[in-house]
Amino acid sequence: MIGTGYVGLVSGVCFSDFGHDVVCVDKDPKKIEMLERGEVPIYEPGLGALMAKNVEAGRLSFTLDLASAIEGAEAVFIAVGTPTRRGDGHADLSYVMAAAEEIAMMAKDYVVVVTKSTVPVGTNRQVKQTIKKANPELDFDVASNPEFLREGAAIDDFMKPDRVVVGVQSDKAAEVMNEIYRPLEMRDFPVVVTDLESAEMIKYAANAFLATKITFINEIAMLCEKVGADIKQVSNGMGMDARIGSKFLQAGPGYGGSCFPKDTKALARIGQEHAVPMQITETVIGVNEEIKRRMITKLEDLCEGSFNGKIIAMLGVTFKPDTDDMRDAPALTIVPALVGGGAKVRVCDPQGQHEGEALLPGVNWVEDPYKAAQNADLLVVLTEWNEFRALDLKKLANKMALPRMADLRNVYSVKDAKRAGFEAYDSIGRAGFI
Ligand code: NAD
Repeated sequence: MIGTGYVGLVSGVCFSDFGHDVVCVDKDPKKIEMLERGEVPIYEPGLGALMAKNVEAGRLSFTLDLASAIEGAEAVFIAVGTPTRRGDGHADLSYVMAAAEEIAMMAKDYVVVVTKSTVPVGTNRQVKQTIKKANPELDFDVASNPEFLREGAAIDDFMKPDRVVVGVQSDKAAEVMNEIYRPLEMRDFPVVVTDLESAEMIKYAANAFLATKITFINEIAMLCEKVGADIKQVSNGMGMDARIGSKFLQAGPGYGGSCFPKDTKALARIGQEHAVPMQITETVIGVNEEIKRRMITKLEDLCEGSFNGKIIAMLGVTFKPDTDDMRDAPALTIVPALVGGGAKVRVCDPQGQHEGEALLPGVNWVEDPYKAAQNADLLVVLTEWNEFRALDLKKLANKMALPRMADLRNVYSVKDAKRAGFEAYDSIGRAGFI
C-alpha cells in the first residue's frame, strides 16, 4: 500500500484485518516512525486499535523502503494524494505517476498495480504506459479501485461498503482483485467489476452527485429563510421519498473536505477538455462558494455589521466531525474573514488544532467551549462535533458579553436559544431572531 494517508492507512489496516499480508509504504519518515511506534498519524475513530491488532498478528508492517515492500506482492495499491493542480483545476497526477515509476523500477514478478487514488478518466492507461516505458520487461496489469470511505467513519465504510468498484482489463487482474475482496463478497457486499474508464468515472460522478445534493439543499435553505419555511421540516419531508433519500440532505455552511471541492473541479476540467461542459457541476462549485460567503454575511449581521473589536467563539473548524482533516474546510473561508475584519477569534475543536494552527493564523485556541465563550460577542457552531451537541446553553449565554449565536449546523433551535437567554440566534434555512 503506497501512501499512509486517510485512504492508504485505513485500506492497509482493513486489508490486513481481512487476513492479507500488508506492507504500508510512505515517503514521509515522520509518518513511518510514528506508525512503527504504534501511533496513528491521523485522527480516525477505531483505527489505532485495529492497527495494533493486525501488527500484533504479524500481518501488517510499515516501511520507507518500497523495494522491500514490493517483493512477492501480488498487488500494489497506489493511495497517494491527487490534489488540485494550481491554476487549472485539473487533478495533480505527479504523485501517482511518480509512484507508478517507482513500482516499475522495483517490481520483478507479475503484479497488479491498483490505483486507489481518485484519478481522472484515462489515468490508469497512463499508469500502464508509464510502467511499460520505465520497465518494458515487467509482467503486470493495472486495475482501478476507487475508494468511497468517509473520514470519521472510514473503518465501517471500508468493512461494510455499499459496493466495491474494480476496473480491470484482464481476467488475471480480475482474479487477483477478487481474491483481495473475497472476504467482503462472502458477506454479500457487492463487488462491481467494470472496465478501467467506467471505474474512474464512477468515482467522480458519485462525488459530484453528492456535492450537488448538498448544494441543492443548501440553496433551498437560503430560499426557506426568505419565505418562512423550515429547512429541517423540508429535508425531512423530501428525504422520505425513496427516490430522493434522506442522506446528504442536511443544510449547512457549504461542503468542504479533501474530496468534494477537488473532485468537482477535476470533473469540470475533464468536461472542458472533452468539450462536454459539466454545467451542473460547474454551477455547484460556484453556488458552494456563494454559500460560504453568505455565512460570513450572516455572522456580520449578528455582529451589527462589523467584526471590528468583537470577540467571536468558534466551535469546530474541521470540515466535519470525527476527523482532524482541515483541507478545504468552510472554516478556511469564514475564520480569515473574521480575523481580517478585526475580530478576536477563539477556536475550540476536539481534533482540529494540530492541522489548523498553521492554516488559521491569528486565532486563539482554547480547550473548552465555555472558555471560548467568556466575554464573547458571538458564538458560532461551525462543526457539529458530539461535544457541541448538548452544550449548557444557559451557562454559555451567562458567560458571554453579548449572548448571540450562529448555529451553522442547525444543532439547536430558536426555542433552545430563547430559553437559555440568548439575545439573538440564527441558523441555516430557518427563521432566527435578533
Ligand atoms: P493524504 O494526503 O492523506 O495521503 C497521501 C499519502 O501519500 C501521504 O502520506 C504522502 O506522504 C504519501 N505519498 C505520496 N507520494 C508517495 C510515494 N511516491 N511513495 C510513498 N508515499 C507517498 O491523502 P488521502 O486523503 O489519503 O487521499 C489519497 C487519495 O484517495 C486521493 O486521491 C483522494 O482523492 C482519494 N480519496 C480520499 C478520501 C478521503 O476521505 N480522504 C476518500 C476517498 C478517496
